[in-house]
Amino acid sequence: MRKPKLREVAEAIKALVVGPVTTRFPFEPCELPAGFRGKPTFYPDDCIGCAACAEVCPTKCIDVIDDVRRNPPVRRLVLHYDKCIFCGHCELNCTTEKGIRLGSEYDLACFDRSACVETIENELLVCEICGTVVGAKKQLLHVADRLGAKRYANPTLILVADGELGLAPADRKRGDGPLTREDLMRVTCPGCRRTLVLQELWGE
Ligand code: SF4
Ligand code: SF4
Repeated sequence: MRKPKLREVAEAIKALVVGPVTTRFPFEPCELPAGFRGKPTFYPDDCIGCAACAEVCPTKCIDVIDDVRRNPPVRRLVLHYDKCIFCGHCELNCTTEKGIRLGSEYDLACFDRSACVETIENELLVCEICGTVVGAKKQLLHVADRLGAKRYANPTLILVADGELGLAPADRKRGDGPLTREDLMRVTCPGCRRTLVLQELWGE
């Protein structure tokens, strides 16, 4: 058998005196260093449902599920933290800077990986003409707020922002007929808006 080297003997004696350098987790909680990045958590008051966090996530562990059959339609973000690498890109690139934050929770082991999820729902707006998803309502309100008076150049933003104040009609259902000038004043997707503007400028 190989004889232990002097350095290893010295290390063993030192460990007896100083104690182990490893933590005693799971028998005792760990002492977390400053800036520790633990489980990401959504914050409903600050999340606007824009899905920028899902776009930048390197492991693609945030699913974006647009449920347009619900009334009202909703966007559900489902973060699978069993696939998360705790890089913090979601927090760093969050549009509001506070919608998702990495906390100090680190003991995330479980037997059922399907239970390792963090979810949030936001109301979704769809095009009043073709039903295509336009965006989360809170996201459009956020944009309108940032634009201030400039939002009055965009009918969708006018209707969403003024609708919140009760200044726009809530029931704007339309039939299946051809597009008319009245349709300019609707919440629309970019495709329908383009068709409406071209029709307004050059006719059919
Ligand atoms: S507000 Fe932040 S947390 Fe919410 S969807 Fe947008 S990027 Fe993600
Ligand atoms: S911390 Fe990184 S891996 Fe985890 S959800 Fe955020 S962006 Fe994705």
